[in-house]
Amino acid sequence: MIRAFAFFVLLAAAISATVWVANHPGDVIIDWQGYRIETSLALLGFALAVACVVAALLFALWQGIRHFPGRLSGRMREGRQRRGVRALTEGMVALAAGDGRAARRAARHSLALLDDTPLTLLLAAQSAQLAGDDAAAQTYFTAMAEDETSAFLGLRGLIGLAVRSGDGEAAAPLIERARKLQAGAPWLLSAELDLLITDRQWSKIAETLQRALKAKAIDVSQGELKRATALLESARAAATDGESEAALRLAEKAHKQAPGLIPASTFLAALLDKAGSNRRAGNVLRRAWVASPHPELAAAYVALQANSGDALERVKNLRKLYDGAPDHLESAIALARAALDARLWGEARSRLGPIIEANRQPSRRVCLLMAELEEKQHDNLTAARQWFERAAMSAPEPAWVCGGCGSAAPQWTALCGNCGAFAALSWHAPGEGGPTRLSSSSPALPIS
Ligand SMILES: [Zn+2]
Repeated sequence: MIRAFAFFVLLAAAISATVWVANHPGDVIIDWQGYRIETSLALLGFALAVACVVAALLFALWQGIRHFPGRLSGRMREGRQRRGVRALTEGMVALAAGDGRAARRAARHSLALLDDTPLTLLLAAQSAQLAGDDAAAQTYFTAMAEDETSAFLGLRGLIGLAVRSGDGEAAAPLIERARKLQAGAPWLLSAELDLLITDRQWSKIAETLQRALKAKAIDVSQGELKRATALLESARAAATDGESEAALRLAEKAHKQAPGLIPASTFLAALLDKAGSNRRAGNVLRRAWVASPHPELAAAYVALQANSGDALERVKNLRKLYDGAPDHLESAIALARAALDARLWGEARSRLGPIIEANRQPSRRVCLLMAELEEKQHDNLTAARQWFERAAMSAPEPAWVCGGCGSAAPQWTALCGNCGAFAALSWHAPGEGGPTRLSSSSPALPIS
């Protein structure tokens, strides 16, 4: 709009000037150094206009010639960049598809076309990793770590390589550098823990997890379970070294951190019992039973009464445990076991009966207890054999199942015996998700 207005103003000015010159005719005489030119004012004006146009054209031509090499190299550079970005994209796609050879080829092209940018180095490093060439990956990640903009990514790659090869010495300073750049990164915490777990540095694992829990950098329930596991392993190590006070202190911490961690409760109870605090040991197990009834808790509770030779007394004590979770399958099984030992046949049958009524396929332990009951109470070997046969057909008993690889273990361990996952074992039937519980529609078990 403004341009059009300016054009019309100029056009009007040019027309006015032409009209003015036409209305005021005259001659121009130029006499210079022996040259004499006589012409009209209009012709001189026209000649000046033509001279201006020619000068402008000559200037434009000169500018074109002068900038030609620069423009040519700019076009070439743009072409290289376009091809480099295409190679980079192809490399990223090949990486995502797991095609190591195509990714490395694209990485070489992009490096040649775009030089050492953070993205080309990342592609080169990751494609080298995919191809199993850790030495090349190390070189590229090191180059990235030296550049301020890509340092964090480079350090991540280097730390990953060090953790994978179990090289704690190389990883420690790298982790320190990465923590200074970005302290709260979850992968950094995970790398740090992986290294400490490989070295079985339980007390350092507990410290690191406490820091992470404080900074809310880890899922609370997972973090607490892992910290309790590390504390329990520290306690066990202290007990092995004969440091009973330290062992007790650590076991108490572990139990407090995760009251549902069964091995921490049983270990603490055993330490307390050994230290002469039998009553406190019983309290620990009863509290743990309320949180999650478990056969190992029942076994530990029975072990506390080992000095009491009276089987009836043991049943009486076990009822206290039972009362903590009266509708739980484990409560009924534990009390039935103690009743059988005390030859309280009626009590044993009253505990097992509702379980059999509630489950068409009772568990192996229930079948075996029934077989024992039939044999001992009535000397009914036929009925006992039938229960043994049912036991053989029953579903697998709950076990310690690894959340990482799914393998089942009879004993709890801090590290999975199969895949090495830390604090990954939980108690449930192999292939199932949760603990065994009596059906909710079943009648509450009688309390005597
Ligand atoms: Zn596992």
